[in-house]
Amino acid sequence: MVRKQNIGKCDTCKKEFNYYMVHNGFNNTSHAYCSECGMTAFFDLVQIPKSVTVSFGQGAIPEAAEELLKECQCGGKFTSNAKPRCPHCLNELFAETATSFLQANASKGWLWLKKWTGVDCIIVENRKTYEPWK
Ligand SMILES: [Zn+2]
Ligand SMILES: [Zn+2]
Repeated sequence: MVRKQNIGKCDTCKKEFNYYMVHNGFNNTSHAYCSECGMTAFFDLVQIPKSVTVSFGQGAIPEAAEELLKECQCGGKFTSNAKPRCPHCLNELFAETATSFLQANASKGWLWLKKWTGVDCIIVENRKTYEPWK
């Protein structure tokens, strides 16, 4: 599916980047960001391996699942509380200040909850991966 890209802006370097939002509730997914580069990983909740006993929900992955995951292609780790990052300076994007562009670009009725661990997650510059199980 081709997603409409929106323009966000980094608070630290003030450069712009493309992004779109994914609602874990619609897709029935969990997500995690890479702690180094901010890549977004998705876990389809119906495709969680049977061997995984940690329970996943729609939102950030549970902390206990971190050790079950492969490293990101950059060598970083997907963790439950990692934040998305600016593709230019690699600083974290702040959930609070991202509100200005997230809310402005969103469809009517959508409300940003100002946290990266909720059901709404961001994909920056199309950097995403699926099911990175070990
Ligand atoms: Zn930046
Ligand atoms: Zn990474």
